[in-house]
Amino acid sequence: MEKIRNYINGELVEPETGQYLDNIEPATGSVYSKVADSDGRDVERAVAAAREAFPAWSRTPAEERSRLLLKLADGIESNLFRLARAESIDTGKPLLLAKTLDIPRAARNIRFFATAILHHRSEVHPTDYQGLNYTLRRPRGVAGLITPWNLPLYLLTWKVAPAIATGNTAVAKPSELTPMTAFLLAKICREVPLPPGVLNIVHGIGEKAGAAIVKHPAVETISFTGGTKTGGEIIRQAGPAFKKVALELGGKNPNIIFADADLDEAIDTSLKSSYMNQGQVCTSGSRIFVEKKVYPSFVERFVDATRKLRIGDPLEPETDQGAVVSREHLDKILSYIQVARQEGGKILSGGAPPEKLNPRCKNGFFVEPTVITDLPLDSRVNREEIFGPVVTVTPFRDEEEVIAAANQTSYGLTASVWTQNLPRAHRLAERIDSGTVWINCWMLRDLRVPFGGMKNSGVGREGGEESLRFFTEPKNVCLRFPIDSPKKK
Ligand code: NAD
Repeated sequence: MEKIRNYINGELVEPETGQYLDNIEPATGSVYSKVADSDGRDVERAVAAAREAFPAWSRTPAEERSRLLLKLADGIESNLFRLARAESIDTGKPLLLAKTLDIPRAARNIRFFATAILHHRSEVHPTDYQGLNYTLRRPRGVAGLITPWNLPLYLLTWKVAPAIATGNTAVAKPSELTPMTAFLLAKICREVPLPPGVLNIVHGIGEKAGAAIVKHPAVETISFTGGTKTGGEIIRQAGPAFKKVALELGGKNPNIIFADADLDEAIDTSLKSSYMNQGQVCTSGSRIFVEKKVYPSFVERFVDATRKLRIGDPLEPETDQGAVVSREHLDKILSYIQVARQEGGKILSGGAPPEKLNPRCKNGFFVEPTVITDLPLDSRVNREEIFGPVVTVTPFRDEEEVIAAANQTSYGLTASVWTQNLPRAHRLAERIDSGTVWINCWMLRDLRVPFGGMKNSGVGREGGEESLRFFTEPKNVCLRFPIDSPKKK
């Protein structure tokens, strides 16, 4: 059975404990590989390697850093099928999704930042006739990068790329539930080869390996993507040490459909925003609001389309819906469906594990895509993040009502608005509390734009200039002009 080892100082190494955790294939429920159960000692080694690599890496010319990162992106692309299959087996997501979204995006992330550093321009502030200020942006040192299981390689590279492109070195910790593509990435880094210590990957559970990274005094920059509760824990640890922290957290995103919207397109995209990756996407539109006039027809058509989704073995090419990530997560999703029943919700489709699955998947973690109506806005199911293929549909009367409903949550990550009325779309975009508002679309991503959440969805932004700024320290240099001011002339 494959043993997923740590990647420290350019080598693939055993954890200090010598212990490994089971890595389970969600589609079958069986252990299929082992992952290092690392602790503070492994983090210590990784941080030491990253510190040692920092002086040379931070002084390596941008063109050379760019060249190595572009080779890394090429390595990902040339391993597309292997990585996509690994991602599908590790997460339960359809192979087709891993092949068309996760892995290509990982390569794009790296290319994007590898080339961005070639175009860096610093700010200059001429100060009247007295002087000139210019800003240096220097890498900060060792960055701690902690990522979740839903988009493993996609989100890991989204942090690794800007961190090391800007000259930092890094210690990353992928989710213990989905470590395989990070392990394959380490192997590709060795082939590039990336200089030892520039990127280190420590595997293991969050409370042990992850917490050791956050607490380490030499890790002064922490970029985290994951649950809101964990984000709170991280900021409690990192705050008193004055670390620079970015948190990308959960969401409970509204998907708002007005009567004048192109309903075919809205339904088509809403299927994706509800169920893509089994609804395990932070941007999932899990609360659908539909204007009263079209509510009955929307619900009928949406439920019909939901029932047609093919749920099954993620490795089969025709599968739309694979498995969710773990037994524990499946139980959480099913418990929310139970709560919905108790809260008076009507389950119009799904609501349980599927009855028919191929024999390979009979012990896998599957749940049918589920549509729930008739739930009050303040119900738990409408307020708490479920992170599964479960959506609520709620009718609304007018703009004011739906803005209030959309904002009635502690989260604020993304929103979608479907309407042909452009002034109205802009009014909603202005008033909805979320880091991103998509108008007549969902997940139309541009890597240059700021991405992140308001309220309990996070602190800080990633993407483009925001990431480059996060991973660098601005230093202003003020130079007095040795020339006379015009007054004296
Ligand atoms: P999680 O918070 O349980 O774990 C995320 C990572 O943090 C894992 O690597 C885990 O091992 C580690 N971790 C756990 N406890 C830790 C601790 N005390 N100290 C340091 N590290 C610790 O989240 P998850 O269940 O893996 O992911 C799902 C969540 O991620 C959802 O809430 C989802 O909305 C969110 N998410 C957000 C975004 C975004 O961009 N905003 C993107 C994807 C996922």
